Amino acid sequence: EELLDLRHELDGIKVRGLDVPKPVVTWPQMSLSMSTLNVLRNLGYDKPTPIQSQAIPTIEAGRDVISVAKTGSGKTLAFGIPVLRHILDQRELGSADGPIALIMAPTRELAVQIQRELKPFLKAHQLKAACCYGGVPIKDNIADVKRGGNHLMVATPGRLIDLMASNSGRVLNLKRVTYVVLDEADRMFDMGFEPQVMKVLQSVRPDRQTVLFSATFPQKMESLAKKALVKPIEILVGGRST
Ligand code: ADP
Ligand code: MG
Repeated sequence: EELLDLRHELDGIKVRGLDVPKPVVTWPQMSLSMSTLNVLRNLGYDKPTPIQSQAIPTIEAGRDVISVAKTGSGKTLAFGIPVLRHILDQRELGSADGPIALIMAPTRELAVQIQRELKPFLKAHQLKAACCYGGVPIKDNIADVKRGGNHLMVATPGRLIDLMASNSGRVLNLKRVTYVVLDEADRMFDMGFEPQVMKVLQSVRPDRQTVLFSATFPQKMESLAKKALVKPIEILVGGRST
């Protein structure tokens, strides 16, 4: 059933899966919003990185994805650019009842880094993100979440579980979440967060889109991916390291 696609092996990209969308190597060919193109230009990001070339069209086609590429290869925007359209397509319904997209990262530093990197893009589309992690008073997170209007939530799994449990589940509502990112998935599992990640995923509608990003692709992660993702396309930049 599986298909090994070697078209991109020359670029050091291996793609595996069924009906894999073609990579796109320039921003204008990606049918991005004007605002997104402007931010990219202001940042001086002339063209997509290899992981962005392959992952963005694949995610925008609605597919679940496992993306493995080394640190510094531009994974944040590979999942961050598709998140914008995903939210914009749905925000007409109102954003009072909870976020539309959820990004999980293993540590506070990584969550903050993701939020910082996505900030200019969110701002250009008048979108708001909540960023929640342990080590700060949970009441601050609760206030932020209760204020509403957050289209996106960036969080560590532990704090997310705590927020989901607070006030018998009346604080954080994940029923509108239709796009989930597991960033630095290898570290998330090294740190023992698998039960929390699975618990969160069980609270998100099963017809969601789920994308996993990682610097390495250990066997353990593959078995989790099988449980959490549906017919994922695997994108490996620079070979599989375990
Ligand atoms: P990773 O998550 O793979 O470790 P990041 O997403 O943090 O990598 O990106 C690494 C750096 O590359 C960041 O400073 C980011 O702003 C920058 N970057 C991302 N995409 C591009 C691009 N298309 N062109 C130039 N720089 C980029
Ligand atoms: Mg990263």
